[in-house]
Amino acid sequence: MPVISILNQKGGSGKTTIAVNLAHALKLDGSRVLLVDSDPQGSARDWNEENEGEILPVVGLDRETLPKDLQAIKSGYDWVVIDGAPQIARLAAAAVKASDLVIIPCQPSPYDIWAAADLVDVIKARQDVTDGKPLSAFVVSRAIKNTKLGKEIMEALESYGLPVLKSQTTQRVAYPTTASEGQTVFIEPQSEAAKEIVALKEEIKEFFN
Ligand code: ADP
Ligand code: MG
Repeated sequence: MPVISILNQKGGSGKTTIAVNLAHALKLDGSRVLLVDSDPQGSARDWNEENEGEILPVVGLDRETLPKDLQAIKSGYDWVVIDGAPQIARLAAAAVKASDLVIIPCQPSPYDIWAAADLVDVIKARQDVTDGKPLSAFVVSRAIKNTKLGKEIMEALESYGLPVLKSQTTQRVAYPTTASEGQTVFIEPQSEAAKEIVALKEEIKEFFN
C-alpha cells in the first residue's frame, strides 16, 4: 500500500487540488484509497464534508506522529494520498518520513521553484538515511495551456536533481469549480482536466511497477 505525499511549503501550489483529484483517479481504477489531510487548515476535510464523505474516506492527521498514526490505519487500503501542509516544517518532515513517494507540485515561477529548496533538503536527508526512500519528483502545476515552459524554468527544477514528471496540470477553471461543489474533475470524465489527472496518475503508478 504505497503512501504518496503531495508536499510543498508554498501555499497555492496546487497540493490539495492534486491530492484530491489523484486520490479519486486511483479510486476509479478500482483501488481502495485513503486521503490523509495533514494540513491544519483542513481543506481536504472541508471538501469531504461538502460531498458528505461520498467520494473518498478522508482522515485528518495534522500532527508530528503522522508516520506512526498512519501505520495503524493504512492497512486495508491500496493507496494512501497525503495532502501536505504549507509552511509547517515539522509536519512536512513527518509526511516525508511516512511516504514512499513525495510529489512536489510547483508553479512554473522562479519564486515557487526557489521556495522548494528546504523541502528538497528534507527529502534528500531522509533518502540518505534510508537507502533512497522516499522517491520524489516535481510536477509542474497550474501551467498555462499551450505555452512551452521556459528553458530557465525546466533548468531550475532539474537543478534540484529530482525528476520532473512529464505530466502537468494546467490552469483550468474546472479545478476550483469542481472543488467548491465537493467534487473532482471526474464529474466530467472526458474533460481535458480529467485527462491530465489520469496522465499524472499513470505516471505516478509507474514508480511502483
Ligand atoms: P495548496 O493546497 O498547495 O495551497 P490548492 O490546491 O488549494 O493549493 O490551490 C490553490 C488555489 O488554486 C485553489 O483555489 C485551487 O482551486 C486553485 N488551483 C489549483 N490548481 C489549479 C489549476 N490547475 N487550475 C486552476 N486553478 C487551480
Ligand atoms: Mg492545501
